[in-house]
This record gives sequence, structure tokens and C-alpha cells, in this order.
Amino acid sequence: MNAVVLASGGLDSTVAAAIAKEEGWALFLVTVGYGQRHHVEIACAKKIAAWIGAKEHKILHLDLSVFGGSALVGQGTVPKHRSEKDRKQGIPNTYVPARNTIFLSLALAYAEVSKAKSIFIGANVLDYSGYPDCRPEFLQAFQQVARLGTKMSVEGSSVEIKAPLLQLSKAQIIQRGIELGVPFELTHSCYDPNEEGVACGQCDSCLIRLEGFRQAGKKDPVSYQVG
Ligand SMILES: [Zn+2]
Repeated sequence: MNAVVLASGGLDSTVAAAIAKEEGWALFLVTVGYGQRHHVEIACAKKIAAWIGAKEHKILHLDLSVFGGSALVGQGTVPKHRSEKDRKQGIPNTYVPARNTIFLSLALAYAEVSKAKSIFIGANVLDYSGYPDCRPEFLQAFQQVARLGTKMSVEGSSVEIKAPLLQLSKAQIIQRGIELGVPFELTHSCYDPNEEGVACGQCDSCLIRLEGFRQAGKKDPVSYQVG
């Protein structure tokens, strides 16, 4: 059976894809180039699609920097050196307006065409920076959107939104990835890499990733500018 996987090229979505693979799904990956400053992740997603043996890999370009409203699409600067306490307060400017709503809508369209029964997303509530579109309630609501708004559903073929990492810590996600043989060196997490695509080691995403590897007792195989 077919499954669509939202594959950003990041660590979480790669582990989610590996879980889907292990469950026996034929994988239809979709990656969105949304004008993100860390567009190196698109190249990572291509390598990951090859590694995992995706049946198809679609790369969509939908430039959300036209709207702005996020440091990830070039409006404002990416926060650095924030403590865990700081990271847990409020929603940071790395939130991209309605990103997961947009991504899930694209994945849903792809699911209808590819006759997929599941959509996998690497959303995670625990280690994340309070992004509202990573919450279980949001994903449940989107499940309802899929049920009500698609031809496939009306004709009796439902699609299930699956977020297998939702309640895991970053260390648990990494541990799961190790069990599944995920090549972490192909994944990219940094919000603000340099021109060569090397991670900064200081943004929230780098700090959470590095801490996750520390807690899992493993060394992160990607290079960092510092740290
Ligand atoms: Zn970084």
C-alpha cells in the first residue's frame, strides 16, 4: 500500500520515513522548497529518497518568502544560543505561518493522486519550539479535513494522517533512527547554515539536535561551524 511522506531532508522526517518503510509502505515522498534559507535540505531530501528507495519523489516549489513573516524565509534573524527555558517560552520567529497546514494540504493532494492510504509527517510536540501546527489537536483536525474534503474519502477510501514521532523526545527519535539504520549524515536540521550548507551549531534546531545526540549517547555525524 502506498504512503505519502512529507520529507524535508531533516532528521525527524527522515526517521518518520524510515518507520513508514519498516511498516511496509511503498513510499511517495514530497519535499517543498518554500524559499527557506536552509534550502540545502532539499538536496538532502533527494539523497534520502534514494537511500530509502522511494517509489516517487516530488519536489514542489512554493515560495512562502513572498508572504514573509518568518526568519526561515528571510524576515528577521534566526535566534541563537537560546537556553532550553527560553526556547520553551512563546512561539519563536522561526515559525513559518501555517506551514504544516500548507504542507499537509499538498501531501493530501498527492495522496489522492497516488492512491495513498497514509500520510506520514515528522511532527513532534515535546522538543519543538511551541509551533501550534505540531500539536496533536491540529493533526486530528486535519484528519477531519482529509475525511471531508477529498473525492477519495467520499468514495470510501480514507487516508490516515500518521505522526509516529509526535510524543517522542529528540533522543528517542535518534534512537529509533539508529535502530532503523538512518544515515543521519544525510540529514540537515540547521535553520541558518553557511553558504556551503554547514550547520551553525547555535540555532534552536542545532541545539535541540545536538542535545538529542548527547542524550542518546551518540555523536552527530554532520559538521558544525562551532560547538
Ligand atoms: Zn543551526
